[in-house]
Amino acid sequence: MNVETYFKISYGLYIVTTQSGNKKGGYIANTLFQVTSAPPQFAISCNKDNYTADLIKQSGMFGFSVLNEKANPALIGNFGYKSGRDFDKFAGVNYFTGKSGIPIVTDSSLAWFECKVTQSYELGTHIIFIGEVIDNGIIEEKGKALTYSYYREVYKGFSPKNSPTYIEKEKIEALSGVIKQQAEVWQCQLCHYEYEAAKGDPISGIAPGTAFLDLPDDWVCPICGADKSMFEKE
Ligand code: FE
Repeated sequence: MNVETYFKISYGLYIVTTQSGNKKGGYIANTLFQVTSAPPQFAISCNKDNYTADLIKQSGMFGFSVLNEKANPALIGNFGYKSGRDFDKFAGVNYFTGKSGIPIVTDSSLAWFECKVTQSYELGTHIIFIGEVIDNGIIEEKGKALTYSYYREVYKGFSPKNSPTYIEKEKIEALSGVIKQQAEVWQCQLCHYEYEAAKGDPISGIAPGTAFLDLPDDWVCPICGADKSMFEKE
């Protein structure tokens, strides 16, 4: 199997949200697309272990925000690499309450949709929810939508383990023939982001050539927000 073929498929990146009772859930989705136009319906594929999937089953509603290409990577890390079971993903995030009572994130987003679940399909590890649009709106007229390939290339982000498009990183590297630089590399154990001293961290303003051990104590992973203790030298 050639893993690279999967990387030729294009996706957007979205924050999918819902609420059941007083429990809010949200995660980063790339497997989201419009499946019918009359009525307008969207499909999302969601890992069954995902806290948000449980909450969508309960509420029968989901919303999603279309991420901006200039999205704050910490926001993606916040919704993409942590579980809402033990962490309030919405603290410090701007959102509003949609018609159906679910939260819709407005940070780093171009547009939003609110959908009522019409059908769902169990697919082994994942569940596909089909939702009809009941409301939507524009947040920012200008700006480009973030694509998954842009996220991979520019932010060096990878699909987290629960994603339908997750591929083991070792496999990616072995099959795509990535030759590692001899330079020091430290890897975030949470999201697999790699800090390379030679490149620094432009997102946080860390100059190229800064050794990992010389990073400020309050430096955090630019992708998921984990602190330095979560990094291991490769
Ligand atoms: Fe990380």
